[in-house]
Amino acid sequence: EERARLAASAGPGRTADGHPVRLLLNVGSAADLRPGAEGVGLFRTEFLFLGRRQPPSRQEQVTAYAEVFGRAGGPVIVRTLDAGTDKPLPFLGLPEEPNPALGVRGLRVDRVRPGVLDDQLAAIAEAARATGADVRVMAPMVTTVAEAAGFAARARAAGLARAGVMVEVPAAALRAAALLREVDFLSVGTNDLAQYAFAADRQHPGLADLLDPRQPALLELVGMCARAGREAGKQVGVCGEAAGDPAVAPLLVGLGVTSLSMAPSCVPLVREALAGLTLAECEERAAAALG
Ligand code: PEP
Ligand code: MG
Repeated sequence: EERARLAASAGPGRTADGHPVRLLLNVGSAADLRPGAEGVGLFRTEFLFLGRRQPPSRQEQVTAYAEVFGRAGGPVIVRTLDAGTDKPLPFLGLPEEPNPALGVRGLRVDRVRPGVLDDQLAAIAEAARATGADVRVMAPMVTTVAEAAGFAARARAAGLARAGVMVEVPAAALRAAALLREVDFLSVGTNDLAQYAFAADRQHPGLADLLDPRQPALLELVGMCARAGREAGKQVGVCGEAAGDPAVAPLLVGLGVTSLSMAPSCVPLVREALAGLTLAECEERAAAALG
């Protein structure tokens, strides 16, 4: 038993019967990196842009990205800037909006400030070349297939061959199969997906029951994405807080997701939870949660 515990404490994520589930890190900078995972599933890049009157220079971005790429110990998925009227950044100079969560945020900022995304993609590509790391990019708050196709084309033009999108809006989950005809992977952001599926502010302390990732409607949306991934032969991960919850991670695996990306401190408990259950048991739990 002790040996099983030790085996479960390191190495790639697996269920008790050996089904692989990649365990990845959510980081905001190189300081967040920890050993023991298989790469980075969500590199949030907002920190570089916070509180600035001018956007960071190309070189400043290249340096910060290369620091993470060079030390990640595996593939890195970089999320392009997720800001907007809900997370205002002075240099964007966006007007206030009456309903910022439903306004110009995430990829939508590109509609009004197009240079920011292209500069960032160029800096990511340069840092990828400099380090030789396996780097993929993904866009936040994608809603339509046209947005996904446009993002993938811009990433390719910058020299980034592998592009994906986050699924944070129910409309995107409903179109998962069509999205996967345009991009290489999906990453489900359950924090925002719950907010938008349940029309419940993710920060609202009185609405925690609606935002619980075990809500069947949320699990249905995750399952739709995972099924589309299986049919397309493409990766579908989860990178919201749900992925780092040892009680929820087996449900996500049972729904068919191929990777879980989480805060570094969550990795050991999630690894242990998966090592204690077979894939069939994960599937049974998922079916029970949906029922
Ligand atoms: C999410 O929405 O689930 C997510 C991972 O992105 P963030 O928490 O940065 O909005
Ligand atoms: Mg989000």
